[in-house]
This record gives sequence, C-alpha cells and structure tokens, in this order.
Amino acid sequence: MTHGPAVLEILGADTQHLPLVFDSPHSGTDYPADFRPIADPALLRMAEDTHVHTLFSGAVDAGAVMLHALFPRAYVDTNRAMDDLDPAQIDGTLPMELRPSVKSRDGIGLCWTRVPPDGAPMYDRPLTAEQVMHRITTYHQPYQNALRDLLDNAHARWGQVWHINCHSMPHRASAMSPEPPGTTRADFVLGDRDGTTCAPEFTETVRTFIAARGFSVRVNDPYKGVELVRANGNPAAGRHSLQVEINRRLYMDEATRDPNDGFAAVQSLMSDLAVHLAGFVTDPSRKQTA
Ligand SMILES: [Zn+2]
Repeated sequence: MTHGPAVLEILGADTQHLPLVFDSPHSGTDYPADFRPIADPALLRMAEDTHVHTLFSGAVDAGAVMLHALFPRAYVDTNRAMDDLDPAQIDGTLPMELRPSVKSRDGIGLCWTRVPPDGAPMYDRPLTAEQVMHRITTYHQPYQNALRDLLDNAHARWGQVWHINCHSMPHRASAMSPEPPGTTRADFVLGDRDGTTCAPEFTETVRTFIAARGFSVRVNDPYKGVELVRANGNPAAGRHSLQVEINRRLYMDEATRDPNDGFAAVQSLMSDLAVHLAGFVTDPSRKQTA
C-alpha cells in the first residue's frame, strides 16, 4: 500500500459537539519537492496565511471541528475553483473546460503564476497539464472534499451548519491587491459575498464581538470571500459560511513570518470568539434561519 503526501489535518472530529466548522486553507507550509518555483522564497511566502490555523486552534476546545491545509497556497490554491486557470499559462490541454476568472488573469488563480507584492514570475517554464492535474487530484480536491464532508456531516446531524473560513492579509495593499497600493487595512475584514453566503446575523455577531474588543472591522471591503464560502454557503438551506481575514501585523512580523508580541492576544481573541459562536449556534432564542 502506498501513501501519498500529507495534505490536510482535521482536529476535533471526535470531540465536536456543535454545528461549527472552521477551516484554514492557506496556512500550510509543507512545500512539495516538485513545486520548483524561481521566485524569491521570502516573497513566495507572502502568499501564505502563516499561523492562521494555530490562531484558531481554540475552536476545537469550544466544540467545533477544524480543518487546515498542510500544502502552501502558492502551489495550488484550494480557495479557487478547479477550472480557474488560464489555458495560455499551461503547456498541454486539461481534460476539462477552463473558466479563468480575473484572479487567473492576474496570476493568482488555481496555480499562481505570479508572486507578491509586485507580480514577479513564479516559474521559468509553463506548468504542464499533467503537473496541474496532479496538484488538483492530490491536494486541491481532497481539501475541498474534506471541507464539504465536515459541513455535510454537521448539517445532517444538526440540520444547519455554521462555517468560519479563516485567513490573514498583509497590512498594506500591494500592486496585486484590489485596492490602490499602499492602502492600509483594517484589523479584521469579514466577507459574506455581500450577504449571500450566510445569515446576516452571523456576520453581525462576529463583527460586533471583535469590534467590542477595540479592533477595527470592515465587511466585504476589500475582501468579500472567494470560492470556499461561495461554494459552501447557502443560507436558505441552513448552510452559513463567513470568511474572516486577520491583519497579519496584529500577530506576526510580515518579513520573517515569526509570531510577534501580539500573537497570544489574537489567539486568545479567536478562542473567545469560538466560545461566543458556540453560544450563538445553540441559542434557542435566535430566530431559526434553516
Ligand atoms: Zn487566505
């Protein structure tokens, strides 16, 4: 029997007692040997949401289940649709129709071809169709399927599920960002794709909880949420997905990626948020949205 690479980790599956699922798709740091980028490793790591799964690890103690990717986002981005690829960037033909979004055209689609902050080339060669398919079947799809299974299991057990999709963002916008370069970001940005991926009270309870601790919070500005909340959020069916972006300056040195003096406070805040959400999802007085 052969074993593939370690792709993901699920924490709290045996102790989960709430319809609460956390996932961190971009905090993986196990760089596969067949990646072979030419980009400066320090710049390459700017694609990582480094440490995010650790910041949210207290969610497991609150009764949630937590999934995180072990592979890096720059290798294959599991927060993209499988067909979000520009055929012009691939050597060969994939066995599916491609639908490149603006992200692919900017070099940050399924397989990134550009590196932050200025869009330097990731590779000195195009990826082959075979290499892309390996990344999809071995990393991207197992992660998306594992998340879907956790959400389906919770929904089957409790009739609803509440999902926090966990990320972090550079404190300043770069040339590859949606805002003008140099724009300073809020402490937290919540994304529900303009109110379409969860009940509004879910976004609001997270916003007010974090804001009450003295942090600045923006909603859908500049990040609205991408593929994982889009594909899994369906509030009319009792499936609620919310993206949370943490400003990296709050918890790490953005150059070295090491935790800074604020790390423990952010980790504690996220643990408290998970406890708050445990109360939210079990509150019998809350209007049923399922
Ligand atoms: Zn992210």
